[in-house]
Amino acid sequence: MRAVVYRGPNDLRLETVPVPRIGPEDLLVRVAVCGVCPTDIKKIQYGTLPPPRIFGHETAGTIVRAGSRVRQFKVGERVALHHHVPCLECHACRHHAFAQCAQYKRTGITAGFEPAGGGYAEYVRVMPFVLPGVVRIPARNSFLEGAMLEPVNTVLKAVKRLALLRGDKVLVAGQGPIGLMFTRLLALQGTRVVATDLLSTRLELAREFGAAAVYRPESKVQPHASSFTFHALRFTHPASRITDCTLTTLVHQLTRGRGLDAAVIAVPSDSVVREAQAMVRGAGQVLLFSHTRRGDQTPLDLATVCVDEKDLIGSYSADFRLQAEVARLVFTRKLDARRLITHRFPLDQTAAAIELASHPTAESLKIVVAQGFGEKSG
Ligand SMILES: [Zn+2]
Ligand SMILES: [Zn+2]
Repeated sequence: MRAVVYRGPNDLRLETVPVPRIGPEDLLVRVAVCGVCPTDIKKIQYGTLPPPRIFGHETAGTIVRAGSRVRQFKVGERVALHHHVPCLECHACRHHAFAQCAQYKRTGITAGFEPAGGGYAEYVRVMPFVLPGVVRIPARNSFLEGAMLEPVNTVLKAVKRLALLRGDKVLVAGQGPIGLMFTRLLALQGTRVVATDLLSTRLELAREFGAAAVYRPESKVQPHASSFTFHALRFTHPASRITDCTLTTLVHQLTRGRGLDAAVIAVPSDSVVREAQAMVRGAGQVLLFSHTRRGDQTPLDLATVCVDEKDLIGSYSADFRLQAEVARLVFTRKLDARRLITHRFPLDQTAAAIELASHPTAESLKIVVAQGFGEKSG
């Protein structure tokens, strides 16, 4: 079969590898769609893991072979896969810290070599310990939607870490695919979302996804500059008379001086974290979702945590227990994941897909590698 093999930093090659052999408790799935995820991009570009590997973990496809002892799934079923599933029994799991569970950290899906997801290949082997994470895709839904369950799960998990009440005001900084998922899920639970992004195309979608207010820094900053600061920028709010002031001033007006109840930071900018801390009310929360690079030394005023009781929290990866709720949100299209997918690349252009995902344009949001077996247009 064909597979895109990671051979070193920024070195992806289309190769012919054996179709994975499966054991009596495994599934063999023919991949239809695999989402391009920033965590894989980081591993590929920085070479953080030893090669060779076949990446890709936001996978949907069709079961083409089932081991003799597999009872719960049948050949021909269309499924969404999860490459990590916790044991639900260890110390970490008892604390509901599933992403820290040793079993969870193992990758249970492979197209060959050291298991790494395998979605950038024609077939993957699904191991028994991740079978509880396999979700059937309803007939009316597409593989594209199935492939979005994993990223939506990571966002829903993060939303649940926020202690919010209906009507609370929350900043979502960054309206890429992940930021837009936050905007939608927060709006669905009655939160008033203040969405910011440098790209107006993304803000338009944020509005359609339920943002109560959208703001774009009026700046000469390049849209891709990852470390812009809100502080110095002027903002405009298309639907109100408020124009030409800083975000801090806007938040002050929107919340009648009380401050935001929470801020979600979906851009890897440290200065945005500091500014969000200042805009959040006492005992509010700042949630980091995009700060995945280790080793940065960033000065923070820790008294905002200690004295002002502003919690600084993080969230990473998915929560297995939320799977059914995530499937409902995506498959009923309460969160219409199709609107987030802007580009599909064939398998042999996986490197181009990753290149575009790491240098987003005004038009690009979620990018997928699609092999299109039986794929419906929706
Ligand atoms: Zn992912
Ligand atoms: Zn565990």
